Amino acid sequence: MSNAPSAKAPEELPETDDSPTEKAAQQVPSSLPLRVDGLVKRFGGITAVDGASFEVEEGSLTGLIGPNGAGKSTTFNCITGVHEPTDGHVYFKGEDITGYAPHEIAQRGLVRTFQIARELEEMTVLENVMLAPQRQLGESLWRSVAPGARRAVIEQEREVRERAWETLELFELDHVAHQYAGELSGGQRKLLEMARVLMTDPDMVLLDEPLAGVNPTLEEKLLERIHALRDDGYTFLLVEHDMDIIMENCDPIIVMHQGKVLATGDAESIRENEAVIDAYLGEDI
Ligand code: ADP
Ligand code: MG
Repeated sequence: MSNAPSAKAPEELPETDDSPTEKAAQQVPSSLPLRVDGLVKRFGGITAVDGASFEVEEGSLTGLIGPNGAGKSTTFNCITGVHEPTDGHVYFKGEDITGYAPHEIAQRGLVRTFQIARELEEMTVLENVMLAPQRQLGESLWRSVAPGARRAVIEQEREVRERAWETLELFELDHVAHQYAGELSGGQRKLLEMARVLMTDPDMVLLDEPLAGVNPTLEEKLLERIHALRDDGYTFLLVEHDMDIIMENCDPIIVMHQGKVLATGDAESIRENEAVIDAYLGEDI
């Protein structure tokens, strides 16, 4: 891709094919969308993430849980480029994306939701969805002043509009398409955040507590959407504090505690895991 950080472009690397580190890098299986390897993040004297390693399988709805302060959000932010890790690596589809900017990571198909920013509140719901960054279309859409290109731009815009309406229907936001985003209820905002993410045509979606503050009816709906999208081939990593939601919906489940991965497995094995029970001691499981 033309906008990959040039320092990491493979053709600029010296030919060290037979060195052990080069070999190790090449062993990242491309079938694994996401691999986090020895991730460390410190804030001053606080170690928020302390050598976390885990993998996410293609097409899975993987859950990441842990008590408050376990380092889940910091891990999430390191994966999505919001924080630069102090140490360790993040690989996406075999590529080392450690330290990449959020938009560079999103362009590769690994996306997260963002809260609707102030300037987007003053646009309609439809505009919000149409203006979500387009992975394939973006560049050519704005660059086209050449004769004959206008037709292609119009065609692309028609496609984006069609896709936007489909996405709004999927999230039951079509009836508020012409309202300002700032007028939406809290739950509808969450739906819009998800709709914007899907407009980018991602491969993998990361969600950090997407159900916090959402009423039970909407929670049910959002989970249904996530399962349906998973069935369509999307990969999800769902970060949640609430054990029950993860236990009922995710497989496998990764448990973090004090910045480290404590356990990985299906709901049953996690429920019976002594270390997990200890970590959650004093909290409702
Ligand atoms: P979780 O999402 O699992 O509740 P976090 O990743 O938010 O945990 O936090 C892990 C630890 O890192 C906590 O002790 C928290 O106070 C600390 N922390 C998180 N973000 C920052 C920050 N920006 N500056 C300083 N400390 C932080
Ligand atoms: Mg958190």
